[in-house]
Amino acid sequence: MNLETFTFDVDSDGLAVASFDVPGRSMNTLTAKAIADITAITKEVATNDAIKGLVVTSGKSSGFCAGADLGEMNESAGGGKAASEMSEDELLKAAFERGFSLNKTLRELETCGKPVACALNGLALGGGLEVALACHYRVAANDNPKIQFGLPEAKIGLLPGAGGTQRLPRLIGIMEASQYILEGKPMKAEKAAELGVVNELAPTAELVDRAKAWLKANPEAKAPWDQKGFRFPGGVPNQHPGATQIATMGNAMISAKTYGNYPAQVNILKCIYEGSQVPIDAALRIETRYFINTQQRPEAKGMIRSLFLSMQELSKGASRPAGPAKYELKKVAVLGAGLMGAGIAHVQAMAGIETVLLDVDQANAEKGKAYSKRILDKQVSRGKMTQEKADGILSLITPSTDYSLIKGADLVVEAVFEDTELKAKVTKMAEEHLADTAVMGSNTSTLPITGLAEASIRPENYIGIHFFSPVERMGLVEIILGDKTTEETLAKTIDYVLKIRKTPIVVNDFRGFYTSRCFGTYTQEGMEMVLEGIKPAIIENVGRQAGMPMGPLEVSDSVGLDTALKIGRQMAKAAGMDANENPASQFLAWLVEDKGRVGRKAGKGYYEYGEDGKPTRLWPDLSEKIDLKIEECPPELKEELTKRFLFRQCIEVARCFEEGVITDARDADIGSILAWGFAPYTGGCCSYMDLKWGIADFVKEADRLADAYGERFRPNAMLKEMAEKGETFYSRFPPAQKEKAAA
Ligand code: NAD
Repeated sequence: MNLETFTFDVDSDGLAVASFDVPGRSMNTLTAKAIADITAITKEVATNDAIKGLVVTSGKSSGFCAGADLGEMNESAGGGKAASEMSEDELLKAAFERGFSLNKTLRELETCGKPVACALNGLALGGGLEVALACHYRVAANDNPKIQFGLPEAKIGLLPGAGGTQRLPRLIGIMEASQYILEGKPMKAEKAAELGVVNELAPTAELVDRAKAWLKANPEAKAPWDQKGFRFPGGVPNQHPGATQIATMGNAMISAKTYGNYPAQVNILKCIYEGSQVPIDAALRIETRYFINTQQRPEAKGMIRSLFLSMQELSKGASRPAGPAKYELKKVAVLGAGLMGAGIAHVQAMAGIETVLLDVDQANAEKGKAYSKRILDKQVSRGKMTQEKADGILSLITPSTDYSLIKGADLVVEAVFEDTELKAKVTKMAEEHLADTAVMGSNTSTLPITGLAEASIRPENYIGIHFFSPVERMGLVEIILGDKTTEETLAKTIDYVLKIRKTPIVVNDFRGFYTSRCFGTYTQEGMEMVLEGIKPAIIENVGRQAGMPMGPLEVSDSVGLDTALKIGRQMAKAAGMDANENPASQFLAWLVEDKGRVGRKAGKGYYEYGEDGKPTRLWPDLSEKIDLKIEECPPELKEELTKRFLFRQCIEVARCFEEGVITDARDADIGSILAWGFAPYTGGCCSYMDLKWGIADFVKEADRLADAYGERFRPNAMLKEMAEKGETFYSRFPPAQKEKAAA
C-alpha cells in the first residue's frame, strides 16, 4: 500500500493499526489523499486473510482529526471540472458514480467484514467524528482535558455529509443527536461516554491496547444498525414514529432561532427525519443528496469562505506586509482608562503584555484596572481560571497618572475623549517618552487619522487602532492607515492585534472609516421606515429576522439619538443644506429636544427602559408626531423591508470600495460580520452581493429600490461596471495573500 497520510502496521496477532498522520500539518484533516488512504486501508483489511481486525488512531498529539479539509473541498470533485462550477445534479451524479465522498468510503470500512475500533487520543470533529462513528467501537482518552467531539458543520452552513446525520441518531437517539447536529455544539469525553458516542474511556497510553483487546473479544463485530432487529434508541424498529413529532418541533425551534435564514439547519432536520425511515444504505444516499444541496447554497459558500477560511487566514496575519520582521511587543501604554481604555488594558494583560494604564487622576486609572479585576474574578469563581493565574494577569496592569512610565513601551493606544485637541495634547505628552521605533495608535471612532497624525512628531508611526465595545468580547480591530503611515507601522500594528488575539482588517482614512460609516446606514434606513409610517414593532422584527443582532431602532437608542441628530446636522451642513428642512433631522430634533428621548442612556428613546437598562417596550406615543399607518406586515412587505436593510448597507460598502476606503473583499466581509453583525448567514456584505445575487442582478434590484425609495439605493458607477464585466467583489478586490513576517 502506498499511504501518505497514515502509517499501517500489523502485529503478530493479525491486528492492524492505522495511524492518521498528515505530513507537515499540526492537526489531521481529511484531505482527498487521506480519504483515498482510508479506502486503500479498508480494501487491505477486507481482503487480507491474515488481518483479523483494525484499530484506527492518530499519530498526532493534537488529537485525531479536525474534519474535512475545507480549503480543498471545492476542488475535490475531480473529473477536470471544479466542484464550484458544477450544478447540483452534476455533483450528485459525480458523488454517486465516482464515490468521491467520504460517505461511501466509510460505509465500506463499516462493512469490511472485520471488526474496527477507533482509539481517540484527542479531538474528533466533523468528518473526524464521522470516521470514528463508522468504526464498531470507540475508546477515548480520559486524561486529555482538551478532548472534544462534535459535528460543527451547521455553524458554517454545512451538513455533516459522511454519515453523521444517520449514525449519530442511530447511536444516541434522534432527539439528542438532532440537538448536537443542529447547533454544532461539541461534547467532552465524559458526556460522549454518557451518551454512548464513545464506548469506553481510558488513559491515552492504553488506548490502542484497549482497542485491540476489544477486537480480540469481538471478531464478528458489526454496526448495531447492520444487525437484525435493530432499534433506534427510544426503542422503535427502524422506522421511528416519534420522528415526525421531532421534525415538527425541530422546525419550530429552528425558525424561532434563525428565522429560516440558515438552509443547512432546515436540510439537517429533513435529512435526519427522512433517513430515520429507511435502512442505513438508503439513509446515507439521502444524506449525500442533502449534503450537496446544502453545499451548493450561497449561504454555505459565503459562510465557509468568511466564517471559516477568511477568519483563519486573517488571524494568521494574511494581511500583514511581508517585509518587516516580526515585532515582539512586551510593553504597551494605554492613554485614558475609560470604557475602552480599561477593556484594551484587560485584553493586553490577558496576552501577557506589560500594560501602563494612564488617566488624568489616579482614581480613574485604578477604576480602569478594577474593570479587569471584575472580569478575572468572574472567571475564577466559575472555575475557568486559578486565582494565581488571575493575580498574575492583573499584576501586569499598572494604573497611573505619570506619563514618564511610557518609557520603553513598544506601542501606545490613545483612548481619551473624542476630542481632536485633547488627542493632540496627549500624543505630544506620550511621544516625549517614546522610542523612535514605537507605534502611536488612536482608538478614535470618527476622527480622520491623517488629521490626528499632524500632532505627532512621527506621523509615519501613527495609525488608527479601532476597537469595538465591549473590547473583551468583540473580535475585530479595524486598523486605519493615515496618509503617512508606513508599511512597517502597519506590520507592527498587525503583530500587536494578533498578539491580543483579535482579528485585524485594514482600511484607509475616512470619517467613520469603514465600519461606522456602513453600519450607520442600517439605523438610518430604520428611521426612514418610521418616517414612512411603518409601525416600529414591524421595523424591529424585520431587522432581526434579516439576521441583524438588534432592530435598528434599538441600535439607534444605544448609540444615542442626540448623536444621530448631531451627525445628521453636520452632514446636512457639509452638503450645503438646511438641516431644519430635512424631515429626518426635524423628527430627531422633536424626539431629542422636545421630548428628551435621547436613547438608552436617558432611559427613553424609541424604547422605554427599565432600571437595569434593558428595553421594556416601544414608546407608544410616537404616533403624536407620525401617522403610523402601516400596522401589518404581509410577506411581501417583509421581503421588501429585508431587502432595503441589506441593500442599503451593501451599497454603502460598494461606495467605500469605489472611494478606496476599503480595498479587500475579505476584510470587507469579515468587518461587516464582526463589527456590526451583518447577517452572518450571507458570509458578509460582499458575499451577499456576489453569491446571493450576482452583481448584475444586484444592480438591477438596487435600481428598482432607488426608483421606489430614493437615490440612497442607486448603485454606483463601479457596481455598474462590475455588472457589465461580469466581475465579483472577490475577483475585483481579491484578498491580500501576503506572507507572514520572515522571523
Ligand atoms: P470614556 O469617556 O469612557 O473614557 C475616556 C477617558 O479618558 C476618561 O477616563 C478620561 O478621564 C480620560 N482622559 C481624559 N483626558 C486624559 C488625559 N489627558 N490623559 C489620560 N486620560 C485622559 O471614553 P471611551 O468610550 O472609552 O472612548 C475613548 C475613545 O475611544 C474615544 O476616542 C472614542 O471615540 C473611542 N471609541 C469608543 C467606543 C465606545 O463604544 N465607547 C468604541 C470605539 C472607539
